Amino acid sequence: MSVLITGGAGFIGSHLVDHLLAGTDRQIVVLDDFSTGSASNLEHLETDQLTTIDGDVRDDALVADCVAEAKVVYHLAAAVGVRNVVENPLDSIQTNLQGTENVLSAAAHDATPTFIASSSEVYGKSECVPFSEEDDRVYGPTTAPRWGYATAKAADEFLALAYNDEHDLPVVVGRYFNIVGPRQTGQYGMVIPTFVEQALAGDDLTVYGDGTQTRSFTHVADAVSITHDLVENDDARGEVFNIGAPGPTSINELASRVIELTDSDSEITHIPFAEAYDEDFEEPDEREPDISKLRDVLGRRPRVDLDRILRDVIDERADGVIG
Ligand code: NAD
Repeated sequence: MSVLITGGAGFIGSHLVDHLLAGTDRQIVVLDDFSTGSASNLEHLETDQLTTIDGDVRDDALVADCVAEAKVVYHLAAAVGVRNVVENPLDSIQTNLQGTENVLSAAAHDATPTFIASSSEVYGKSECVPFSEEDDRVYGPTTAPRWGYATAKAADEFLALAYNDEHDLPVVVGRYFNIVGPRQTGQYGMVIPTFVEQALAGDDLTVYGDGTQTRSFTHVADAVSITHDLVENDDARGEVFNIGAPGPTSINELASRVIELTDSDSEITHIPFAEAYDEDFEEPDEREPDISKLRDVLGRRPRVDLDRILRDVIDERADGVIG
């Protein structure tokens, strides 16, 4: 029996593969359509413990076959990135809804333990910061495409919890908060790889809005080890957890720190959200997790600080090893 990781060729998924393979004889199967992920994220792993399947999580028969061979499933495949989601709303919603339903219904067959990757986006534009798992969600109108991603991820959570309750499926839902680190691409609007690449090239760092909006950044190594620990912990079953590091940083501070650490001559320029995306675009001011629940169940929290995260991304980019 193997571990199935959907989206395993992606940023978080490939680090999860590394983490689960390290020092073990586990067999891992990655199911990925390589839309935002890349074979290069896995090419350092020359091992017969890893099998990669090029396929779509919307293909229910394929998903059923993969899940049938698995003893645990990590479902990370999704259409991600604000720009991607805004520009391809239909593809994004279908991938994020049908893909998750396919995984859960297949896993329910043998009650295969399943992790569902959700997002801090489910809190929407709630101002109740820091966000705790039981907080209300606050969304904009359906005419603004960015809320389609939040809505689909929230529906995934409802589905996961319903499968847990009605089919006795052991599920854990993890809401990731701005997971960052090596191999993350800036192509779909992710802020840290974008700033680092701009600073290393000597280009202006483009901050959207006035830059006072804050985010909490979490190293991918912390995110994948917490994800694994949650799946192994019986007390996490049927529960939703914030996975993130408290400690907000404004986007202006982030841009300045990237310039300092890269020793770059770049300047910071501000672009209105309406120009970067469209007139309907809404961006929450603050996003910070309350991780009391995570600490209570696992007895731990993310460890890596922002400077370490930035240095890791800068070292990778400076070496030209862009995954
Ligand atoms: P990513 O784009 O690197 O990973 C997603 C992977 O899913 C990619 O490898 C992509 O090729 C694959 N994929 C997309 N559509 C697919 C389909 N239809 N069939 C099969 N594979 C498909 O992004 P990531 O940051 O690694 O995100 C992983 C998960 O974590 C996603 O579910 C995402 O919503 C969630 N998440 C990430 C963050 C973050 O900060 N990185 C924050 C919140 C939630």
